[in-house]
Amino acid sequence: MAIAPNPQHRGDPLFLRDVLTLFGVRAVEFEAARDRGHGDFGRIIGVVAHHTGSNGTPASYIARHPQLGLCSQIHLARDGLATIVGVGIAYHAGRGHWPGWPRDNANAVSIGIEAQSDGTSPWPEEQLDAYYRTCAAICWYLGLSADAVIGHKEWAGADQGKWDPGGIHMPTFRFKIQQYIDHPPFMQEIKKKMTEQFDSIGTRYTSRVPGSTVTMRPIDALLNADAHSFVARANTEALLKRVAEQEQALRELGARLSALCNHLNLKEN
Ligand SMILES: [Zn+2]
Repeated sequence: MAIAPNPQHRGDPLFLRDVLTLFGVRAVEFEAARDRGHGDFGRIIGVVAHHTGSNGTPASYIARHPQLGLCSQIHLARDGLATIVGVGIAYHAGRGHWPGWPRDNANAVSIGIEAQSDGTSPWPEEQLDAYYRTCAAICWYLGLSADAVIGHKEWAGADQGKWDPGGIHMPTFRFKIQQYIDHPPFMQEIKKKMTEQFDSIGTRYTSRVPGSTVTMRPIDALLNADAHSFVARANTEALLKRVAEQEQALRELGARLSALCNHLNLKEN
């Protein structure tokens, strides 16, 4: 796995299955997905989120819509399975507008996701999570933030009366997506593997402390340094406590001396 973000990407999103998989989404390609579309992409600036209008809409319907042909690149089933049905331009957004997007021309610059839903049934948790991950994967790869994900209702609520994806609060939706962009799921795995690899380094290195003849493995050196810093901190705290006790004792002694002087009618100095 050597897939890295490519903000300079231009052309059809052939990367979809790989990045979705990378983000923990079960992703498959529909037959002939790489040949399907209404022309080729140039730059891709975002994602438009939709619902299909029915809880049973099959992926084939998104691939071969009776009137529109390819009508989104991705079909997202209720169980969270993402099917890439085409990688060319799809007819999904229609007339509309959004800041920074070309008016009435979102199809040429965005990836459409059709989530299997009637828009009013509760969204299954696995589908919602896959929705966040799918959008995050695309944004991550293209170097975009979650602000690049808009709902069809945001694009065309005014122009066409669109209300999809129903029941989804877009700012919350984007917040969830941004969390996955900021903390890609696979990074946890990489960190874990790197830690394990680091822990297993057996090579011994000599100390850099002048005069020291100690040799240690990196992990032992780290643990040793950690133990030393812990002891140093504990010692410092103990010393500070003793200093405070001595100061208090001195203050008490001074007060008693002063009282004694008064009693003897002596003036200080
Ligand atoms: Zn829509």
